[in-house]
Amino acid sequence: SLTIGIVGLPNVGKSTLFNALTKNDVLAANYPFATIEPNIGVVGVPDARLGRLAEVFGSQRIVPATVDFVDIAGIVRGASEGEGLGNKFLANIRESDAICQVIRAFKDENVVHVDGKVSPKSDIETIDTELMLADLQTIEKVLPRLVKEARIKKDKQPMVAAVEEAKAILEEGRTLYAAGIAHGTERAEPLRELHLLTVKPFLYVFNVDEDELTDEAFKEEQRALVAPAEAIFLNAKLEADLAELPEDEALELLETVGQHEPGLATLARVGFATLGLQTYLTAGPKEARAWTIKKGATAPEAAGVIHTDFRQGFIKAEVISFDDLLATGSVPEARAQGKARMEGKDYVMRDGDVVEFRFNV
Ligand code: GDP
Repeated sequence: SLTIGIVGLPNVGKSTLFNALTKNDVLAANYPFATIEPNIGVVGVPDARLGRLAEVFGSQRIVPATVDFVDIAGIVRGASEGEGLGNKFLANIRESDAICQVIRAFKDENVVHVDGKVSPKSDIETIDTELMLADLQTIEKVLPRLVKEARIKKDKQPMVAAVEEAKAILEEGRTLYAAGIAHGTERAEPLRELHLLTVKPFLYVFNVDEDELTDEAFKEEQRALVAPAEAIFLNAKLEADLAELPEDEALELLETVGQHEPGLATLARVGFATLGLQTYLTAGPKEARAWTIKKGATAPEAAGVIHTDFRQGFIKAEVISFDDLLATGSVPEARAQGKARMEGKDYVMRDGDVVEFRFNV
């Protein structure tokens, strides 16, 4: 499955956040016998629709979609030079599908900042710079050979052009993602075999003081620093406390700081979307469940997530939109009102589709 690597300078609250994430580990909760890797946190993506579906179908349990977060320790200035942990750090990032930077904004004087001052802007620059330098090194290593090859093999010319464009962007101090050359887009395609780091989607978690959670002007400033990437604001210590509490008490505590859901829930939801994922829903007396698919997946691809046989033997999918199902109150009533659609193998799944597959085995 796809993973989000958590990175950040020392002392910004990564461990605190990661501990909160692992306390929320849905694997631990739902699959007590699963092996849990110490540096991976599997977090449920909150989805209020599942609770409603469970009511409609009388489902015994709810199974949300999940996001995997990986704790990647060890960014320091000079990581791209391969010093100390640098190499391992870069290798771990290369394996992640998205990069989540934790940025310190909280002011606590008892917690030392590696650079002596709290400055989200300069922390972001420090980390982005290491990643961009690593990409520039990769490019400088392959470019001369590519240029030579392209003299003979004309079909390599678009790749040379793309690599040279990427180089220019990085030299200007921009990540490829920020420049619109994101993994999965057509512009990133010629760069694929270089395994660059800054084509990965970025998201930024600002670890803020509690009073900053509701400071809209402050948040707007930070958002501007990282756009087009998403910014999430949370207090890591508070999140760690919330993860220890039963849901009603957690909500009470959240309300005292003007929030309606834990920052981790927002992080899971935004992280899931940042990975280019979406869900479709199934429900029955046993469970109401969200299944993870890539945006743009077709009905047979979606069926294959449940079981490979479902994909191979796919006949059709009976699809009711969540809203229609809720409005009609049941599957038979949705059918009676013409709200159930039979979709074939070319159907592109939509968010909120409630599905039952028909297949041959
Ligand atoms: P890491 O080095 O990035 O993993 O940082 P840690 O999670 O170990 O946190 C470093 C220190 O900052 C610890 O003493 C934490 O208790 C403290 N800390 C983490 N998050 C917050 C926060 O939101 N507010 C304050 N005041 N301290 C925090």
